[in-house]
Amino acid sequence: SLRTQYHYIDTVIVKSRWKPRPQYAHKGTFGHALLLLGSYGKMGAAILSTRACLRSGAGLISVSLPKAGYQIMQTAAPEAMVLADPDEKKLTELPEEPGKYAAIGIGPGIGLAVETKKMVGNLLEKVKVPLVLDADALNILAADKTLLAKLPPETILTPHPKEFERLTQPLQDDFERLKLLRDFCENYRCYVVLKGANTCIGTPSGNLYFNSTGNPGMATGGSGDALTGIITALRAQGYSAEDACILGVYTHGLAGDLAKNEKGETALIASDIIENLGKAFKTLE
Ligand code: AMP
Ligand code: MG
Repeated sequence: SLRTQYHYIDTVIVKSRWKPRPQYAHKGTFGHALLLLGSYGKMGAAILSTRACLRSGAGLISVSLPKAGYQIMQTAAPEAMVLADPDEKKLTELPEEPGKYAAIGIGPGIGLAVETKKMVGNLLEKVKVPLVLDADALNILAADKTLLAKLPPETILTPHPKEFERLTQPLQDDFERLKLLRDFCENYRCYVVLKGANTCIGTPSGNLYFNSTGNPGMATGGSGDALTGIITALRAQGYSAEDACILGVYTHGLAGDLAKNEKGETALIASDIIENLGKAFKTLE
């Protein structure tokens, strides 16, 4: 039903959507991001998302974590404010006043505990803030597909192909997968970042954007968790869902390419991507 337009995310399109930081800006200008992350044994995912968010320009960043992650995060990311869930090992509750944040990112490392699932349901039903859903937040949606109808408008989902299959159906060839991506974005009025080589972004109006940056060295644990932090930071700064997806996948991939120049593909780890985000954003500043 929709007329699909195909776009290639090159430097021209990215530069046209980039907004330089105003000279008289203060941290309030760039929004307060909230990240809901981690569970016992998966605090690494939380740290990677948080560090990537910190390197992507948000004014303030708060992270809600299970209690067990409190000290770890304060040490690993001193620039972030940490909110501790009452539970030791998993997220069970939304933090106070979730509506006050400019954007909320959720998923990396959160696991699939019943209480965490309820919290995700509450977030979708009660909180009217731009959302970025990744990893186990997507697996929670896949386990209860009635939640898909509750996605607030302008929500961004960032599945890898397996997560997207869980949300839709298994065994698609590339062509079917793109058709499914387009239909999914139209049906649920959301933005989907279908990750992989040449990550493809689907929009509710039927557009598909293909990324030009990135390399197979990025096929390593934690790489996607970094992307969640980047896109959440861009959303908190006031970028539209579409612009946040486009700028996010491009700079994430470019940082991965710069990391590859230093470390090669084999040894590349997610922290190398995060360390190169500064150089990647600098090409746009
Ligand atoms: P995840 O599976 O959630 O850790 O996400 C993996 C991240 O690495 C995504 O941002 C992918 O786009 C990226 N990635 C994985 N494999 C490749 C590849 N072969 N070429 C470019 N980017 C990739
Ligand atoms: Mg992932």
